[in-house]
Amino acid sequence: MAYLGNSARTKEVLAKFGMSAKKKFGQNFLIDSGVLDGIVSAAGVTDDDCVLEIGPGIGSLTQYLAEAAGKVVAVEIDKTLIPVLADTLSEYDNVTVINEDVLKVDIEEIVRTYNGGRPIKVVANLPYYITTPIIMKLFESGAPIESITVMVQKEVADRMVMGPGNKDYGSLSLAVGYYAKAEAIMDVPPSSFIPQPGVGSAVVRLSRFEEPAVKVGDEKYMFEIIRTSFNQRRKTLSNSLSNNPALKVSRQQVQEALTEMGINEMARGETLSLEQFARLSDILQRTSAMLN
Ligand code: SAM
Repeated sequence: MAYLGNSARTKEVLAKFGMSAKKKFGQNFLIDSGVLDGIVSAAGVTDDDCVLEIGPGIGSLTQYLAEAAGKVVAVEIDKTLIPVLADTLSEYDNVTVINEDVLKVDIEEIVRTYNGGRPIKVVANLPYYITTPIIMKLFESGAPIESITVMVQKEVADRMVMGPGNKDYGSLSLAVGYYAKAEAIMDVPPSSFIPQPGVGSAVVRLSRFEEPAVKVGDEKYMFEIIRTSFNQRRKTLSNSLSNNPALKVSRQQVQEALTEMGINEMARGETLSLEQFARLSDILQRTSAMLN
């Protein structure tokens, strides 16, 4: 079997189909067999697993996944890659390629159709221009997903794994931390791809919790608070939250809530943990409901 995970084969396949990587789809193909092996082993893929791959490209990671997993379902937006994948994956009978935008597919239906509704693993070298929407869709879809092992831009990986007080801590850290345990697996240099991305990359593994990390009365309200706090990072919580009419709270109510929690009333969002945001959300919701 001629694996694609090297520079010579990747160039050969692209030339055979008269193709080049498309920037608008975030195409950077992996050419490093050590990294491909590392992703599959970090994901802990076994032949009992059904894996959802997002953006198979020309099939470099797909080949490794097909060898390790029972079943691979790969969703690729670029229709010109479909005949390429038919060729490079022709030796595997456990791969289904779906030509769709992953942001538009019904993930739950994929899980039902290809794994009888049992939890799947997501493994991908993600298109960097839509990393956050993809991760949020996977979590919010409610589909049974055991883990998400993905290559992302290094800076985004840092944001996923950081806690309060770090400059990279933000709404993505909190959203990921609500749903999953996030671990940095390895850093990957631009030279592991064709074409080379202009940024460093890293592999992260998000292992989904059975229940969200904190209990909160209204998840949506909490995430609106989190988004608002980090959209205006330099402002105090009482200023930023009272400026958002959707939250229906006054400056004074925010200050009182913070005092009740034993937090300085001039605090900024970047100092609060997920637990504290959940508590703040519950208190503010109660007080805003009393006013309205
Ligand atoms: N998996 C391949 C590899 O590792 O060599 C390619 C990874 S490349 C970084 C990202 C892939 O995602 C490309 O094949 C691109 O066409 C695909 N893609 C981009 N946007 C997509 C979307 N909205 N839905 C599905 N696939 C998408």
